[in-house]
Order: sequence, then C-alpha cells, then structure tokens
Amino acid sequence: MLYYWPHTYPDEILYSVIARYLKISGSRGPKHLLHNLFDRKSISATLDLPSGLKHLIYNLEMFAKDVEMILADNTLFPYYQSFLTPTKVEKVRHSMLSKSGDIHTLIGINAGIFPAGKSPKYCHLCVKEDKSQNISPYLRRTHQIPSIQICTQHNIYLLELDKSRVHFNKHEFLFLEDHLDQFSLIEQNESIEYLNICKDIEKLLKGKQNPFDADDP
Ligand SMILES: [Zn+2]
Repeated sequence: MLYYWPHTYPDEILYSVIARYLKISGSRGPKHLLHNLFDRKSISATLDLPSGLKHLIYNLEMFAKDVEMILADNTLFPYYQSFLTPTKVEKVRHSMLSKSGDIHTLIGINAGIFPAGKSPKYCHLCVKEDKSQNISPYLRRTHQIPSIQICTQHNIYLLELDKSRVHFNKHEFLFLEDHLDQFSLIEQNESIEYLNICKDIEKLLKGKQNPFDADDP
C-alpha cells in the first residue's frame, strides 16, 4: 500500500507519473520502489501499453484510482484499440491488467526499450508552459502516439529522445526534466495536411470506434 502518489497532470501518460514518483522517492528505478508499485521487482518501463495495472491500482487504493480510468486516460490503449479486433482488444486489456509482458508481440508491434518510432517525445512550448506554472515538465500522452510528430496545441514539431545520448535498462523510467537536452527535433513533414491528420489521429484516444465489425476468424 502506498501513502504517497504524485498528482497526474492533464493528458499525462502513466509512465511519466511513475517516473515522477520514483524521482521524488529518491531514484528512477530502485527495485524496492517498483515492488511497492507492482508487487514485483522486474516490471518493464513501458511507455505505451504498461502491464501490472491491477497490482498498481491495488497499491493505490487510498488514492481512489480506477483501472479503467487509467487505461482510458493515461495509456495508449484507446489508440491501439481502434485498430484491433475485439478478441485482441480483450487480450491486450487482460495483459495490461496482469503481469504479462507479451503485449507488443500480441499485436505485432516492436517491443524493447523505446523501439523505432516509439521514443518519448515532447513539445518545447508545452515544457515552457509547465515551467512557467512551476510544474515539472511531463510527457503528454497525445505526443506519444507513434504517428504523431506535431503538438497540435502549438502547431510545432515535437522533439524525440535521441537514444544515442542516453542509456537506460528496461526497468528504468525516464524523468523528463532530467533529460530535456537529450532530445532532438523530429525530421519535419512539410505536408499542409499533416497537422489535420495529427488532429484526427488524436481523436482516437477519446473515441471507442473500432473499424472491425467482425471478430477474429
Ligand atoms: Zn505544445
């Protein structure tokens, strides 16, 4: 049972909240702190589709957190849900709640520490606003969608973690404020349509639409 848990900021991804918890608690990934959260010492630091959520919610009982709310508001589950059949959606959901670590294999996307196209991203104007409000800069969920390269709030390109400048093991959580200068501007896509496409993609986080009307054969 935890007696402290950080505030979750608007559009903050769960990974970022955990990174702040570990930072405030003294380190970015000591095993005993991870054990406090997930009842095990070897959880993978997964940005998009974390697992072990049922244990996390149990340990956050006194903060009135709800696992469905975290799935819907603080992970990329709603985004991937839009592209999966109902059977796979349920399998992914089950894996995220349990301790299963095979979620990415299940839906056919690369796993590992920040695989290609899935490195953490941030908008430098969002970070500037965070700092002006005395908020520790945090990772927005909408910026972590794999195909998103623009902050649609500020209409500017995002910066992406330069993996050649930082070395993590798979159990460490990146606390954004400590690594701001290790991000590089994403290669720019000059298409005028691209901004509107990003805005449409972001809507998938808020909707439940599934393009599949039939289950797996
Ligand atoms: Zn921004």
